[in-house]
Amino acid sequence: MSFADLGLIPELLRAVEETGYTTPTPIQQQAIPVVLAGRDLLAAAQTGTGKTAGFTLPLLQRLHTQKPLHPGQRARIRALVLTPTRELASQVEESVKTYGKYLNLSSMVMFGGVNINPQTARLRQRLDILVATPGRLLDHAGQGTIDLGGVELLVLDEADRMLDMGFIRDIRRVLALLPKQRQNLLFSATFASEIRSLAHGLLDSPAEVSVTPPNTTVERIGQRVYPVDRDAKKALLEKLIIDGQWSQVLVFTRTKHGANRLAEGLDKAGIPAMAIHGNKSQSAREKALGEFKANRLRVLVATDIAARGIDIDSLPHVVNYELPNVPEDYVHRIGRTGRAGAGGEAVSLVCVDEHKLLADIERTIKLKIEKVVMPGFEPDPNAKPEPLRKPQQPRPPRQGQPRGHGQSNGQGQRPATQGKPGGQGQGQSRPTQPRSGNSSGNANGNSAGAGAGAPARRRRRPAPRPSGNV
Ligand code: AMP
Repeated sequence: MSFADLGLIPELLRAVEETGYTTPTPIQQQAIPVVLAGRDLLAAAQTGTGKTAGFTLPLLQRLHTQKPLHPGQRARIRALVLTPTRELASQVEESVKTYGKYLNLSSMVMFGGVNINPQTARLRQRLDILVATPGRLLDHAGQGTIDLGGVELLVLDEADRMLDMGFIRDIRRVLALLPKQRQNLLFSATFASEIRSLAHGLLDSPAEVSVTPPNTTVERIGQRVYPVDRDAKKALLEKLIIDGQWSQVLVFTRTKHGANRLAEGLDKAGIPAMAIHGNKSQSAREKALGEFKANRLRVLVATDIAARGIDIDSLPHVVNYELPNVPEDYVHRIGRTGRAGAGGEAVSLVCVDEHKLLADIERTIKLKIEKVVMPGFEPDPNAKPEPLRKPQQPRPPRQGQPRGHGQSNGQGQRPATQGKPGGQGQGQSRPTQPRSGNSSGNANGNSAGAGAGAPARRRRRPAPRPSGNV
């Protein structure tokens, strides 16, 4: 099967060809025809399956070939992609630009933690496709700087993670700003009941597609547990990296603080390392990721949320310095290695505190992981477990509680109080500025980063949003 067999137009086929991909991945084979047909979609697919092209290609084709469903006086945003993290938003918008380079469609990425003014300026121009994280999008809605009344296609990417991060209320707020008549695509790695209920309310007779059940991924990856004492983990990690001559390793910790400490410790020991987590500035995160991808940084230490959506091809080593609370996160973490058939190795350093977590993981992946005791690092048989530090993922706010307190979502700042966005699903947000009807410019090169330097008009100063501990 080729991309042409999926019914894609020549402009998209040409762009795909230039990326070097010749065969659509299973999610692309299943999702593209459904989306092209205008149907809603519920897709079980995680990062690494090619899901981004799976929705981006048909999305671009729909916008190119169909007249706007909700035309306004001026050109309006027609497609909205919501993602949980800045990194994923950037990557998705990159794909939009890559695949849309021969189409006359414009795109923008929007997330928090960066100056809002260039985004506001960009929103005044023609924009077809917006890729955004929910927090900053609602900031714009609250300030009346965005018109979502023209959205005819909505994508929720990594919906499970958005729910984990406490975004459910934000998502529902965004939904209330959109016209009722639209096509909806929901991508999620897992289908907990909360996702099912979100999907139920959102999707209209969706086609359901599912690829790479987590266990299949897991089986491809060499997994190993090193039982070790809590305080010996760092020394063991150093030994593994040095003796194994690992040149590129992604290490997961449970907390931001732990990530910082470990990265600093490794760096001091002569192993170049940096940490990424929700407390780091956008530029620091991008720098660390860039260095790591370019192979100039040997170790990237990350928390689960910060690492989510990071797309690094064929990562050879993943280390669970601490096990995650949720078995599904283990699957996501180790899915970073062994992609596209490449061999990969996932190592977990497990101390006495984590035995229950390990048992939960083994039950979930239906596999007993090989245990290897490293000579010189034998765990103390009399060690007593200590309670683990509290879960690092923010919980969704309780009913009736305003969001934005104690949440860490990597979105940076936003106002503590928000304008009431929109009415009952009729797209009542209003642009305060005219948006030019200029139809020049294509999806290539219209990102939010451009347009910096536009003067600020008026803005409430956003109250800092406390971040959690991821
Ligand atoms: P995603 O699951 O969207 O994050 O994509 C994972 C990786 O697969 C990315 O590096 C894509 O560039 C790559 N990819 C997407 N589609 C294909 C394809 N048809 N063939 C090979 N690689 C692909």
